[in-house]
Amino acid sequence: MTTARPQYQPVGRCIYCGSKLNLSNEHIIPYALDGLDVLPKSSCRRCSEVTSKIEGKLTQQMWGQFRAALNSKSRTKKWTPETPHKVSVIQEGVRRTEIVPTRNVPAVLIMPVLPMPAIITGKQVTDYTTKNFVINTHQLEDWQKQHVLVGAFDLEIFCRSLAKIAHAYLCAQIGVDNFKPVLPPAILGEIGALHFVGSPPEDAAPLPSGEDVRHVMAVVDLSGDVSYVGVLMRLFSNFGAPEFLVVGGNRN
Ligand SMILES: [Zn+2]
Repeated sequence: MTTARPQYQPVGRCIYCGSKLNLSNEHIIPYALDGLDVLPKSSCRRCSEVTSKIEGKLTQQMWGQFRAALNSKSRTKKWTPETPHKVSVIQEGVRRTEIVPTRNVPAVLIMPVLPMPAIITGKQVTDYTTKNFVINTHQLEDWQKQHVLVGAFDLEIFCRSLAKIAHAYLCAQIGVDNFKPVLPPAILGEIGALHFVGSPPEDAAPLPSGEDVRHVMAVVDLSGDVSYVGVLMRLFSNFGAPEFLVVGGNRN
């Protein structure tokens, strides 16, 4: 099935720092996560270097094993079912590395369990848990089933990645001149990103999920003491992954 991709107008300035020099096209969702939609002329070279580093940590360090198992796109690597892949396991309390062919790599997607974003609730998040979504358990060999699978999860990298995706999506969907953004300093690492990321309110209409739907996003307006515009986001919805809310700023 092919779906028509939305065509966005070139922005003409960096959506992160405002620079008008050396602008390149920006993938809203990283290409390495199969994101195809592009916001033309919207990121300067300096900010591209910053966002590329975050995306690298997310898609290679945190979700590399998961993507290998899914055979996701990558500009630099092609996996075949026989490509050797490192898998970390804990056996009797000792962490060690096993080398397995990609066809046997368990797809473990790690997602945090978070309350609503602190910018809305006023309550800083001091503790959180993670949930593992193990996709292809039928492919696991016996030794893998017996051990805990270890994935390196970094909450700040996760939140900065979601902030970057949400900000780019808001710029594409509602236009850079139509809201006062709060996320660029978090994306660029000047302030923490967790403040803006969390679970949606309980009364929010859930985003669709299903086997064919990989990534789903929607712009949402939140009214309260302060009105915000944000993005509801469900990456890998086809694997039952949870929905997140990223607060992006205030509408003009
Ligand atoms: Zn920039």
